[in-house]
Amino acid sequence: MSLDPKRTIAELKELRALTSDENGAQRVAWTDTWLKARKWFLSKLSDLPVEQHYDSAGNNWVTLPGASEKALLIGGHLDSVPNGGWLDGALNVLAGLEVLRRFASEFNGRPPVTIRLVDWADEEGARFGRSLLGSSAFAGTHSIAVDRVRADRDGVKMEDALRRCGVEMDRFPEAERERKNAGAYLELHIEQGPVLESLGLPLGVVLGTKGVERHNITFYGQEAHSGSTPMNARHDALAAAAKLALEIRTIAGKHADAVCTMGSLKTFPGIVTAVVGRCEATLDQRDLNAGVLAQMYREAQEASRRFAAEEKCTVEWSRLWNIEPVPFHPALLNLCEEAVRETSGSTHSMPSGPLHDAAEVSRAGIPTVMMFVQSLNGISHNKIEDTRQEHLEMSVIALDKLASKTVDWILK
Ligand SMILES: [Zn+2]
Repeated sequence: MSLDPKRTIAELKELRALTSDENGAQRVAWTDTWLKARKWFLSKLSDLPVEQHYDSAGNNWVTLPGASEKALLIGGHLDSVPNGGWLDGALNVLAGLEVLRRFASEFNGRPPVTIRLVDWADEEGARFGRSLLGSSAFAGTHSIAVDRVRADRDGVKMEDALRRCGVEMDRFPEAERERKNAGAYLELHIEQGPVLESLGLPLGVVLGTKGVERHNITFYGQEAHSGSTPMNARHDALAAAAKLALEIRTIAGKHADAVCTMGSLKTFPGIVTAVVGRCEATLDQRDLNAGVLAQMYREAQEASRRFAAEEKCTVEWSRLWNIEPVPFHPALLNLCEEAVRETSGSTHSMPSGPLHDAAEVSRAGIPTVMMFVQSLNGISHNKIEDTRQEHLEMSVIALDKLASKTVDWILK
């Protein structure tokens, strides 16, 4: 039984038929449809010489024992957002399954190193607002206290929803045991953006996941009557914020892959007859390079103070959230580039704006790399999410090549 990428596509379609409706995929973690997807996945393992178990955080581990206990990990996630696409997360799991089948048959059930496929629990965080849940428990970066108080829109507590699926939050740290003997981690994913399509390339190498600085910025001016206050006497908080909203384009534009977004702006009192006395904005800045990220943050702060002064206002910053950039492993980046080049003839390296489970695995100190396959129109988290069939097949072949190269690398 050799690698059969067409089977991966057939299985993705089977999963779609089983767990989607007219609005898209409905495999939201900790729901009945997600459990149905996981049960379906178990049925695919029956003729393989593998051991399967769920860890204490609900991650599903499928292990093909090898001559060495050192393990190659391949991961993905069967959960989706509500009204999601058919490929996000599921491609990774089913392509990984195909690679595992190939190893099992080529080496008569005993490859040179142990091969482990993992379906991470709740990558999307769609129901409780906590992404990368299972992989962060694995990495030991998870805080039970913060998550215990989370509830969904209907008031169902996260703790209760997990318990219904057999997962006790208090036992999350036991998932760290799965790190034992991990030699490397690979993840294939759809790009979820427009870059590869615009370059006309099927596959790309992911350099790492971008770090994020996310802040609330509030400009304070003075509310005043819009009719009686002369233009030169105003303390207009919106004017200062508006200048910053344009300046962040210059700040990001100095760096090739950096992005800055002012996604929310609220004015107070927010009526047609008053100068804006207070303006609340949010800023999201991302880059793969920690130095670039720090520089952009500093420049945005300086600019905000300059614009506040120009408009006779003041400004205050408060951090909403941040995460450091996670660059992937240099040796694995080289192997990934080889695998992509051998499969599609050319290669492109790019950072990932979205976070992925691979970032958590890498933070746990396990050598990690990701591969992207082109997304049509750059659309994801939507029922129209799609990738050309030939590109999907190439992605399975490239992941398989990368897996073989990584096994050799682990043995070195
Ligand atoms: Zn995903």
